[in-house]
Amino acid sequence: MSETFKATAICTRVVDYRENDRLLELCSLEHGKITAVARGAKKASAKLKFATSPFCFGDYMLIGTNGKYIVCDCVEIESFSAITEDLNSYYVGFAMLEALSKTLIAGQPNSEAVLAVVRGLKSICFDDIEPYSAFNNCLLVILESLGYNLDFSTCSSCGCVIDGDAVFSVADGIICEHCGSYDGIKLSRNIVKCLHHPIECEDESLSKMANILLRDIVYLMLNVKINCLNTAL
Ligand SMILES: [Zn+2]
Repeated sequence: MSETFKATAICTRVVDYRENDRLLELCSLEHGKITAVARGAKKASAKLKFATSPFCFGDYMLIGTNGKYIVCDCVEIESFSAITEDLNSYYVGFAMLEALSKTLIAGQPNSEAVLAVVRGLKSICFDDIEPYSAFNNCLLVILESLGYNLDFSTCSSCGCVIDGDAVFSVADGIICEHCGSYDGIKLSRNIVKCLHHPIECEDESLSKMANILLRDIVYLMLNVKINCLNTAL
């Protein structure tokens, strides 16, 4: 029997489906990733059009069973439409959605990861935080929510306080330059500082450079490649 339920979710992907419908990927707090059909959403008169755009965060009412769901209503919490006002923010916003989409699993809620993206978008749109520093913070919270806590302050091998360059390796995490092996990802002193307190980093090009390295780290740890910034850089 079909039942109606609520999912507080952010819309991460949209594809046209059949003649008038749209297929939505929703990353929800309660149920992990959900795919749902929005019937008639392509029609100009569709009342739920707003709910079928990427970045829409809202309370979606869904009906269905076994992975087959239909959107029957949505109450918008935030549209994040301000993200489109700046090209850099727009690309980074999509990269946040991509990171969430590729790490969240159907039926396995991870509200911390969903909220990391919602807060990240909020900080770009409303708090004037530099997009790449917001994204670095968001990725680190997503990693932490999956059990990968990167500590940029202490060497995970010898325990010293890191105050110079560092190295990341899958086996050891973040280690100081003295313990560092040759096959890891090298992180300069400035990159280490930037990733230790991402939001406080006011140097845009440093945040951007740190972001490239952090995405390499995410790839090595989770086997997740975030592609949509490659064209922006
Ligand atoms: Zn060390």
